[in-house]
Amino acid sequence: MNIYGITRENLEKYFVDQGEKKFKASQIFEWLYQHRVKKFEDMTNIKKDLQDKLKQDFSMDMITIQKKQVDKLTSKYLFKLYDGNFIEAVLMQHDYGLSVCISSEVGCNMGCKFCESGRLKKVRNLEAHEMVEQILIIEEDIQKRISSVVIMGIGEPLDNYDNVMSFIRIINDSKGIQIGARHITLSTCGIIPKIKELMNENIQINLAVSLHAPNSSLRNKIMPINKAYDIKELIKTIREYISKTTRRVTIEYVMLDGINDNESQAKELIGLFKGMNIYINLIPYNETENIGFKKSNKETIMKFYDILKKGGINVTIRKEFGSNIDAACGQLRSKER
Ligand code: SAH
Repeated sequence: MNIYGITRENLEKYFVDQGEKKFKASQIFEWLYQHRVKKFEDMTNIKKDLQDKLKQDFSMDMITIQKKQVDKLTSKYLFKLYDGNFIEAVLMQHDYGLSVCISSEVGCNMGCKFCESGRLKKVRNLEAHEMVEQILIIEEDIQKRISSVVIMGIGEPLDNYDNVMSFIRIINDSKGIQIGARHITLSTCGIIPKIKELMNENIQINLAVSLHAPNSSLRNKIMPINKAYDIKELIKTIREYISKTTRRVTIEYVMLDGINDNESQAKELIGLFKGMNIYINLIPYNETENIGFKKSNKETIMKFYDILKKGGINVTIRKEFGSNIDAACGQLRSKER
């Protein structure tokens, strides 16, 4: 087991099983995430025999940076995993702080037609520690603290639910990396049973749902997941999520030229969400060479925005990051395989 993938609660159980005091788990967390030591020997308030036992039971190996590309406000990291797979994460400098977009799986099986990341089929889940390490290593690289995390890189986080939840608990822990739940955003293409599970977790993270179409017939065409979990049921679930958690949900809507960007589609969206505690984030599509979709032009996006706004919907247009270094939304896909 890798130490960076264990929640404090599970580490407490481990110590209790060893006949040790529970608070040792907090001490270990402080060494790992506040002092950032890389060896059990450096944990000076832990007795030598317990250090040896920990060394036997846990690995401290980390993923490694294979390559880094930097462009103004954005850096893209290519990480090599212990089994030779590669994943990517993106660091973004906002006016409110630094955020990291992390990957949750090696590849993705959701098959959204416009998405580059999904062209590499899922090879495996990422372990919780591999997600935690994306953050630790970027913080070490830049010698600064990250203030927010978005789970929007390669993969569908709700298709790797348990590991993603452990990851969230670890980075959110008051003895851990201490990223506030309200600074953590999980983005899903809409796996309904898992959204239902998430609403019972009692954690105040932000949920973003990739909608990208206002009705079943179009959504079926561009997002195959809609055939399993239909948009009507999805919206019902979002409603339930909001009433259960009292949290506002983000609806992501990528603007595809001639596909989902006309006036009547904007009006359909208003019909779906009128009166709900959501906001719609319009995402300028990032074109990639292998996929035929085109980005909507600026005027079309503005018009769409205005219709939603006049219809009483909270709406924003996402700032584009990193398109020069293939680090924009949906462009993460290791070319190193
Ligand atoms: N699987 C999750 C998270 C990863 S995708 C999800 O579907 O939400 C993150 C976001 O990027 C999703 O909204 C996805 O639809 C969007 N996306 C994919 N390809 C894109 C592209 N080329 N340009 C802009 N956004 C894209």
